[in-house]
Amino acid sequence: MPIPELMAGWQRFRTGRFEQQRELMERIAREGQRPNVLMIACCDSRVDPAIVFDCDPGSLFVVRNVANLVPPCEGAGSYHGTSAGVEFAVSVLGVQHVVVLGHSRCGGIASLLAGPPATEEPMRFVAQWLEIAQEARTAALTPPGLDAIERANLCERLAIRLSLRNLETFPAVRSRIERGQLHLHGWHYDLHGGMLTVLDAATQRFVPVEG
Ligand SMILES: [Zn+2]
Repeated sequence: MPIPELMAGWQRFRTGRFEQQRELMERIAREGQRPNVLMIACCDSRVDPAIVFDCDPGSLFVVRNVANLVPPCEGAGSYHGTSAGVEFAVSVLGVQHVVVLGHSRCGGIASLLAGPPATEEPMRFVAQWLEIAQEARTAALTPPGLDAIERANLCERLAIRLSLRNLETFPAVRSRIERGQLHLHGWHYDLHGGMLTVLDAATQRFVPVEG
């Protein structure tokens, strides 16, 4: 998208939606944000949570990273962008829900399964980041008879479950879950048809949402 198109888009937003929702915009600017959902989504340009879930500004706190992964809670000494987002959303904003939103045709998960794409410079960060989901990769490569898309789909879902487990390694998350103040959700968005499936906690299977 050329930069002038972005500027034209901002003009439309400024004179359109911003004006239509001026009261909301002024209130969230004045009073601060109070989202009750943290959504951890992929960087993928096709999966913008605010668009997919038709949300107003101020309602979703979003952390996006390659393949929507949550690392386990680890000590300081490195740069933990996603963990910082989780900490801020849970401990400061007091969100009541955390959603890990995966999606079909995820390039990050494809790289996890097949290795990173060839690049001019050696990839330094993506492969290491994807190591978080190594367990999901191994499990997705195990069942025989899946085609590439089915295997990727399985890996995307296994990675969501793994990220939910990793979320529970954060003491602030665990204590709030135990007190009933925080609820975790694993969702998977299908780019084809825009369908959504959600992880059923009892069966650990993804079930379609009617809509
Ligand atoms: Zn992705």
